[in-house]
Amino acid sequence: GPCLEAAAPVHSWLDAHAHSFRHFIHGEFVAPAQNEYFEVFNPATEERLARVAHGSDADIDQAVAAARQALPAWSGLSGHQRARYLYAIARHLQKHARFFAVLETMDNGKTIRESRDIDIPLVVRHFYHHAGWAQLLDSEFPAHQAVGVCGQIVPWNFPLLMLAWKVAPALAAGNTVVLKPAEFTPLTALAFAELCVEVGLPAGVLNIVTGDGHTGASLVNHAGVDKIAFTGSTAVGRLIRRATAGTDKKLSLELGGKSPFIVFDDADLDAAVEGVVDSIWFNQGQVCCAGSRILVQESVAARFGDKLRARMRKLRIGNPLDKSNDVGAIVDRVQLQRIRQMVESGRADGLSCWQTALDAPSSGHFFAPTFFEDVPAAHALAQEEIFGPVVISMGFRTLDEAVALANHSRYGLAASLWSENIDVCLTVAAQLAAGVVWVNGANMFDAAAGFGGYRESGFGREGGREGMHEYLVPKWLHAPGAQQAQ
Ligand code: NAD
Repeated sequence: GPCLEAAAPVHSWLDAHAHSFRHFIHGEFVAPAQNEYFEVFNPATEERLARVAHGSDADIDQAVAAARQALPAWSGLSGHQRARYLYAIARHLQKHARFFAVLETMDNGKTIRESRDIDIPLVVRHFYHHAGWAQLLDSEFPAHQAVGVCGQIVPWNFPLLMLAWKVAPALAAGNTVVLKPAEFTPLTALAFAELCVEVGLPAGVLNIVTGDGHTGASLVNHAGVDKIAFTGSTAVGRLIRRATAGTDKKLSLELGGKSPFIVFDDADLDAAVEGVVDSIWFNQGQVCCAGSRILVQESVAARFGDKLRARMRKLRIGNPLDKSNDVGAIVDRVQLQRIRQMVESGRADGLSCWQTALDAPSSGHFFAPTFFEDVPAAHALAQEEIFGPVVISMGFRTLDEAVALANHSRYGLAASLWSENIDVCLTVAAQLAAGVVWVNGANMFDAAAGFGGYRESGFGREGGREGMHEYLVPKWLHAPGAQQAQ
């Protein structure tokens, strides 16, 4: 029978809040100026979880003012002093890890195995890692200052992890923040706000305004914001780039992808098939760096396809709180509809489509893992991001052909290479337009490594030293005879 993770702690937390959440501004939960709210659902059950404040211009204005007010004291602390808060946040997250994992799963639909073993541990690590940067700031970035007030906009696919990727470096570097979570998944950010109160983070250092794209646009356009950091679709990234052009705002964008997963004829095919599972069925394929485009050398293509279908038959799809399930629910009805339409259009064009059986609760938003074989390189399914549990494949003969096919994309986020020959991997890696290349692996993340894209996948990096640069501005101090300041 099913082995369900207990949802009771999350239910009592929701009950304690009467299923209603306000913005987090200047260390307090404040009602939205226009008294507007929106509803948040569990995509696996369609259960209504809560109503959440819908942020207006006035709310953004209040949050930016709070962040501005908190800036001098926060940026004036030593790196050591700020590090103590980041360590405290990491420790508290670790202590409440199970609660955050269950809340993330109920809000987003991802399996508990992923939120428990991947999302939340990475969140914790990210705060520990950046506590380290805060401590090293004076020695590693001696001639730098904080950017100022940062507006941060995150998507729904890794709600708390994307918050961590943005908030941790910003705070470590001495910035203050106004963060806008995605409208489908604002709950872990609000629980995180409570945790910040618990650890005594000074009021106004982190503010959270919930809402939709209008709320996000209001943050982007606010004159009091010094930097915008955005993760989301390429279309919205383009709007934000336009809106900030001609202003003094610093900008970083993490956008979409159509990342190649390249299987050479000497690869360990069984390992590569497991790699596909990690690549495209992880988080139901709702992953910006998902290996959604398999390029397989023709001599092994048929064998690889058979192995992949056999493995797909074993994927368990259903209740994300069931610890034995591999694939959970799609985040929202709208997203499910988008995936369905793209798959239908591929079928209508006569592409060969193979799907697993779907034995999942009909009330939730589930979609069967799907495999399109031999898709022409120019077809929409080979070019457009599906952001769902759908993988396509195409064949290649030579190494040069593999590189050309891999780079035949407007995106350039990640790539995954499978071969037992390291020379092949290194030669190909050097020629790929991709911000991240994994060899005999996929979707491996590290707080110490700068993650980001080439081309229309965006610019700027998150994580590691490069990520810190996004939240700092250099200042060359020329003062002959004086000891170097700082
Ligand atoms: P989206 O761009 O519609 O939404 C992302 C966020 O932007 C949400 O918080 C949303 O409210 C906000 N937003 C929407 N319109 C806005 C506007 N005009 N101005 C300011 N903010 C606005 O994206 P989505 O469909 O919700 O998310 C899926 C997309 O995100 C995919 O295309 C995926 O590739 C991308 N993504 C990229 C990365 C990465 O690191 N590169 C990570 C996760 C997701």
